[in-house]
Amino acid sequence: MKIKSIILLLLIYFTGMSEKSYSQEKLKFYDLTKAESYVINDKGTETPFTGKYTSYKGKGTYVCKKCGAALYNSMDKFESDCGWPSFDDEIKGAVIRIPDPDGIRTEIECANCGAHLGHVFTGEHLTAKNVRNCVNSISLEFVPAKLESGRYGTAIFAGGCFWGVDYFLKKAPGVISVTSGYTGGTVKNPTYQEVCTGNTGHAEAVKVVYDPQKTSYEKLIRLFLEIHDPTQAGGQGPDIGDQYRSEIFYLNDDQKTIAENDLNILRAKGFKIATRVTKASEFYPAEAYHQDYYFKNGKIPYCHSYIKRF
Ligand SMILES: [Zn+2]
Repeated sequence: MKIKSIILLLLIYFTGMSEKSYSQEKLKFYDLTKAESYVINDKGTETPFTGKYTSYKGKGTYVCKKCGAALYNSMDKFESDCGWPSFDDEIKGAVIRIPDPDGIRTEIECANCGAHLGHVFTGEHLTAKNVRNCVNSISLEFVPAKLESGRYGTAIFAGGCFWGVDYFLKKAPGVISVTSGYTGGTVKNPTYQEVCTGNTGHAEAVKVVYDPQKTSYEKLIRLFLEIHDPTQAGGQGPDIGDQYRSEIFYLNDDQKTIAENDLNILRAKGFKIATRVTKASEFYPAEAYHQDYYFKNGKIPYCHSYIKRF
C-alpha cells in the first residue's frame, strides 16, 4: 500500500511531531432527551415491555442513540420474553463489557461513546450462542436495511485517503452509512491498484447516506471541509497524487449551490481553496477490506484530523 505515506509517517513520528499532527477534536454527539439521558448517561433502566424495539422484527441495524455507531444486527435479535430487546451477538468491537461494582452483573456500553446499553448474560441457554445482550430500546435507533427511497440523502466527497474521511464522517450525527470507493475518472470498475497509479482519473472518495431529519448536506460539507485540508492541491497530507485530490461531487443543483457557497465562505476567510466542485458520475465501491478500515483495525487516521474552519 502507501509506502510513501508510511515512510513519511515514520519520519514525523521519530521527529516527535506526532502529538501536534494528530490532535483530534471530539465530534459532537446527538442531543438526548431527559428520558434518554437517564438510561444512556446515568445508567438507568427503562420499564420492561415499554420500549419500542422489544418485539420489533424489522431487518436492519441497531445503532447507538448517542453517537450513531452500529451496534447490533437484526439477525442476532431473538425473542427472550424478558421485556427488553435481546441479541445473542454484537457487531465486532462495537460493545464493551464492564463488571458492575456489585460483582453480579456485567454492564454493556457503546465502545465508541460509552453510552449505557444494558447488561449481558451468559449461560441461560436461550440460543446456540448462549449469550443475551439485554438492551434498553431507548439506547438504540433502528436503521432499516432497505432504505425507503426519497427518505435519505446522499453526498459524495473526496478528500485524500478514504479511510480517514470514512472515519470522521461515520462518527457524525445523522450519518446512516459511509462507503469508500472511487469516482470521477474514466476507468470502469477500477481496482485499488489501478487507482493507486494515479492514471485512472478516479479519486478515492466516500459515499455518505444521511438522515435529513438529523443532519443536512451543508453540515456534512462543512464537516468534510474541516476534517481534511481543502487548501492542499495534488494530494492530502502525506498522500500525493491525483487520486488524493479534494473534490465535492454534487448530485443535484442544490448540492452544487451549497458547496460553492461554503467554499466561498472559506475563500472570504483567506483560505486558498483547492477543492473542486464537479457533477457526480458513477461511484464504484472499493474492495471490502477498505470499508470501515480504521474501525475494523482499531487505529486512528494518519492523514486526517478535525480543524475548525467555519
Ligand atoms: Zn455510542
